[in-house]
Amino acid sequence: MGSGILRQAPAWAVSMLLHIVVLLSMALIVQEPPKEEKPRTITSSAPEVQEEFEEFEEELPEDQPETPQDVSNEVVLPDATVVEDVQVVTDAADVDAAAVSVEFTDFSTETAPSSDLLSAVGAVGGQAGGMGGRSGAQRQKLVQSGGGSAASEAAVEAGIKWIVQHQMPDGSWNFDHAKSPSCNGNCSHPGKYKDRAGATAMALLPMLGRGYTHKEGPYKKQFEAGVSFLAAQAASQNGAIFEKGGGSHPLYVQGLGGIVLTETYAMTQDKRLAMPAQAALNFIMAAQDPVGGGWRYQPKQPGDTSAVGWQLMALKSGHMAFLQVSPLTIRKAVEFLNGVQQDDGAAYGYADPGNGPGTSAVGLLCRMYLGWKKDNPALQRGVARLAKIGPNADLYYDYYATQILHHMEGEQWVAWNTKMRDMLVKSQSKKGHEAGSWFEGFERGHGPEYGGRLYCTSLATMILEVYYRHLPLYSGQSVDEEFKE
Ligand SMILES: [Zn+2]
Repeated sequence: MGSGILRQAPAWAVSMLLHIVVLLSMALIVQEPPKEEKPRTITSSAPEVQEEFEEFEEELPEDQPETPQDVSNEVVLPDATVVEDVQVVTDAADVDAAAVSVEFTDFSTETAPSSDLLSAVGAVGGQAGGMGGRSGAQRQKLVQSGGGSAASEAAVEAGIKWIVQHQMPDGSWNFDHAKSPSCNGNCSHPGKYKDRAGATAMALLPMLGRGYTHKEGPYKKQFEAGVSFLAAQAASQNGAIFEKGGGSHPLYVQGLGGIVLTETYAMTQDKRLAMPAQAALNFIMAAQDPVGGGWRYQPKQPGDTSAVGWQLMALKSGHMAFLQVSPLTIRKAVEFLNGVQQDDGAAYGYADPGNGPGTSAVGLLCRMYLGWKKDNPALQRGVARLAKIGPNADLYYDYYATQILHHMEGEQWVAWNTKMRDMLVKSQSKKGHEAGSWFEGFERGHGPEYGGRLYCTSLATMILEVYYRHLPLYSGQSVDEEFKE
């Protein structure tokens, strides 16, 4: 994709890429290497639609136009000539360096200072920020200390294998997994949502969670084809990742795809992804509701908590990957959360103050990544409520709540994890082509209907990756000192 994307990219994008790299190289030169390793946590995330998000029903994508199946010509597949991109950037760097005055912005005033960012993202191969737990020996240790098991690890591998087997020939995925050549309809419960970019993002997230990219792991080729599909979308549509006409929830796809591009960039340091990833973040920032600070289905609409969660996670990942994120965007997003919270922030509603479990889980995880400390009373109240509800087989809720409980650790986590882990291991399909996937037993909410078996499998796999997908926020290898008073 390298040179191909650059040729297609508008001048501003090339210029922006240039400035980013210039800034990066300046930062590398100017700053002393940090004295101690303080990895930051990168966020991630996931799915599509959801339960108490009542509004979803009204706007379902029933009569969206069919997405054309043969679009292979539009997709810019990667080539190996990365050198050209790098060369361009290097040449121009000297000229422009002095004129650039952009600073790396911190994710929020409440999070750690940016001085340790270099240590967070400097290393290649899964060491980036809070994603450092995803590789090799570190992963194994975290599985043991966090409460994973040999069975849960085998389930993760089987889940990823099922996903890989349902890739389309052009590198994308389809929520209608039955369209993939190897499946040919052998797995039940395809999803209805048309946007292939959304399906592709959901397929790649569990691979990233396990440390698998186009440079690491057993599925390099498949991953490269998939991430190239998303990068080509962003590069050719001014940062928009979703497919036009792909469905009524383009910003969900944008958030999911944004997380994939930024995480992949952070983990591989592949420069070909810098421009598409930054363009995707720029699209997200421009799509924010200028009044309320949220995001919804379409750009500039008044926000909802579910969509806000995905955009914030993408911005956080991008920030950790050294991409530019405006502090104003983050401040406005915090205002949105303030506007939908109840009980001083222990609970969250959808578009108004409320306390649904799903929206509360999204809101609380956002707060954690925005810097709320572990001993924050509202956070503790909120977590205790989720712990009391327990895993409830709504994978969207379970996905968020599991991350929250994992970060908080302690007895609540042990109880939650035992139940969640065993339920997923037990419910994973073992039959025929469906082996390794999830669907039966997880029909709650709108997500399974629209995202189908791929959606359920993606979320379930990521839940079982919780031990290492993100390092714990409040202890051990993570940002502990800064978060403890
Ligand atoms: Zn199948």
